[in-house]
Amino acid sequence: MQANITQSTFANYGVTHITVDEPLAPHTTWRIGGPADVFVVPHSVDELRGAVLAANQLGLPRLIIGKGSNLLVQDGGIRGVVIKLGDKFSEVTIEGTELVAMAGKSYISVGNIAIKNNLQGLEFATGIPGSVGGAVMMNAGAHGSETKDVLAFADVMDDSGEVRRFDKEALQFGYRHSILKDDPTLIAVAAGFVLRPGDQEEMMKRRTGWTLRRSSTQPLSKPNCGSVFRNPVGTHAGYLIESAGLKGLRRGDAQISPKHANFIVNLGHATAADVLWLMHHAQETVRAIYGIDLETEVRIVGEPASGR
Ligand SMILES: Cc1cc2nc3c(=O)[nH]c(=O)nc-3n(C[C@H](O)[C@H](O)[C@H](O)COP(=O)(O)OP(=O)(O)OC[C@H]3O[C@@H](n4cnc5c(N)ncnc54)[C@H](O)[C@@H]3O)c2cc1C
Repeated sequence: MQANITQSTFANYGVTHITVDEPLAPHTTWRIGGPADVFVVPHSVDELRGAVLAANQLGLPRLIIGKGSNLLVQDGGIRGVVIKLGDKFSEVTIEGTELVAMAGKSYISVGNIAIKNNLQGLEFATGIPGSVGGAVMMNAGAHGSETKDVLAFADVMDDSGEVRRFDKEALQFGYRHSILKDDPTLIAVAAGFVLRPGDQEEMMKRRTGWTLRRSSTQPLSKPNCGSVFRNPVGTHAGYLIESAGLKGLRRGDAQISPKHANFIVNLGHATAADVLWLMHHAQETVRAIYGIDLETEVRIVGEPASGR
């Protein structure tokens, strides 16, 4: 791919915030991953549309990312275009009990804004370090609540750049699942939540309790990606990995956390290959002992190191 043709094509579509060969590790919470050929950070819906159309014209695959808190980017990086919805894509408006947030907004801060405005229902989001778009895509949830419980609609851009409003039914939510997962050409650009009036002090108390529980049970001081595996029906992935004796197992600088066995932490210079090795090892061991297949919750993207 010729960098000058690429850049001029994107510029023709009004895309100005673009870099080539952007290392992706700093854009993920695991701090792991090779470079993206082209990296775009749109500052508006029009610029996002421009990025989609430019990628289409160049025949380049594209991947949308938020805060990279559920992503394992492989060491060879990502061929094509990575579009990151970040801080410039993060307006929040509140009317009565309806809160609308742009997709790049941090889910934690949306939860906090709701509490500050005496609106109840999004307290669970204050512990989920993703973006609003990532939360819609994953139907992120915690403490017995999920995004679908409070979401009324999402505005979604398709491959032609058109934005349409999807109601909750159209988003086809399931456990850590939405229609956006089945069709990666769809991009959430905003989400509308319908909340209830709530008592601020009570919500803050609940948030503090959950924060303390997370910090005592999860290895939050080391780069990680949250739960690596989905919980199989009727049991917990962390319990199975721990009882298989794998807690603390290390490969390179990647380690199955001694604090929580469904977390893999980066002790410094872990590679995606190290993490994948631990993941496969955990899957094989749990299958051999319990006959249960652990399915990954994190999204594995990009190419191995030798693929470039
Ligand atoms: C410490 C820690 C704790 C966590 N706790 C929880 C928890 O309690 N509950 C929970 O559910 N998750 C949890 N997670 C995982 C993660 O935060 C969520 O899955 C989050 O919703 C991912 O959002 P993101 O913006 O980081 O998405 P990314 O990691 O950037 O992307 C994840 C997937 O979503 C897609 N995507 C991102 N943005 C969009 C968009 N705008 N439109 C369409 N697709 C998009 C990407 O293509 C990718 O496939 C935790 C993670 C960490 C690191």
